Amino acid sequence: MGYNKYRGDYLFDGKTLLDGNSVLITNKEGVIVDIVSITDAGEGVQIYEGILSPGFINCHCHLELSHMKGLIPENTGLIPFILSILQQRHATEDEIFAAIQHADDAMFNSGIVAVGDISNNTLTFPQKQKSKLQYHNFIEVSGFSPAIAQMRFETSMEIYKTFKTHFPNSTSLVPHAPYSVSKELFGLIDNLENNPLSSIHNQETPDENVFFLSGEGKFNLLYETIGVDIKQFFQPSGNTSLQTVLPLISKPTKLLLVHDTFTSQQDIDVLKALSPDQQVIFCLCVNANLYIENMLPPIDLFLQNDCNIVLGTDSFASNHQLSILSEMITINQHFPHIPLATILQWATINGAKALGMDDSLGSFEVSKKPGIVNISKLTKEGKISSSSKAKRIL
Ligand SMILES: [Zn+2]
Repeated sequence: MGYNKYRGDYLFDGKTLLDGNSVLITNKEGVIVDIVSITDAGEGVQIYEGILSPGFINCHCHLELSHMKGLIPENTGLIPFILSILQQRHATEDEIFAAIQHADDAMFNSGIVAVGDISNNTLTFPQKQKSKLQYHNFIEVSGFSPAIAQMRFETSMEIYKTFKTHFPNSTSLVPHAPYSVSKELFGLIDNLENNPLSSIHNQETPDENVFFLSGEGKFNLLYETIGVDIKQFFQPSGNTSLQTVLPLISKPTKLLLVHDTFTSQQDIDVLKALSPDQQVIFCLCVNANLYIENMLPPIDLFLQNDCNIVLGTDSFASNHQLSILSEMITINQHFPHIPLATILQWATINGAKALGMDDSLGSFEVSKKPGIVNISKLTKEGKISSSSKAKRIL
């Protein structure tokens, strides 16, 4: 009495893909009570086709860009994409609020339970306060000219303080990217107390490494276009972008590296040597990579190095949907040798741990309340394909 019982063709518990003999039991509030064998489950078991999984965690999104769906053409490369964002992100507040609400609903319906969301302003704050999703807010700071470091830091701190009022333990102040934050600004962010979880866009385009290695390449065009005279202050480090900025993010105990499309074995080696005490997490946003650069990150390299992997959707500006299943399908299409249970771990428990929400989310462990997602329309072999669908059932 007072329990719900769920059975699928498969039950993914957060770690292992169990077969259809396992029945998940929750109380009426959705709190996990047990996983039992079908022979012990008794009456009243709800049957689903496909997989039952804990709710998905989307570790990288920009909810505030939701109104930009379909505005920017595909495969332009990162620099034209950034310029399009800067030029086209303006809209009326009503349009922006409506798009934010729609995107928040769409994520809920596609099985997402928690989101790591980048915020450059407070436009998403009202929706997040009433959302059914849990949010970790990454308040993003940028400014490549050292002269504006203090001013940009103070502006972002105001946004940070606003989010802190409602999300005291799930708001961080984070740098945007190696090419958009000055050393001085990195220093101000790093000195902020009580800011243990950080995130940075990393190696999303080959030009990012080129710029730091030699000072050449398309980033010069970006600064010219936005009127930043980098000759005044910028010297190429002779290292990759990641290796250049890693020492400037020293205080956070956890660091999400987002995209990692052009991260190399040498970068990973340096990372392990430089930050042995820092937990580095590789956040893959494959559909956005295909949308912007038509490239994919070296996922096999990350697996060979035992890297900690999570998934993100990025925003509607660079993705046709905000769906973690859709990200999983793309990974499965291009890397069919990766076991489904591994990709499901990235989508659930790894993401929950990354955002510090694994006390309640990410797996079907007793006393958690992770939500339940049904992934249906599998292939005959029990794999996901482009026909597969995700539906939130709890
Ligand atoms: Zn992003």
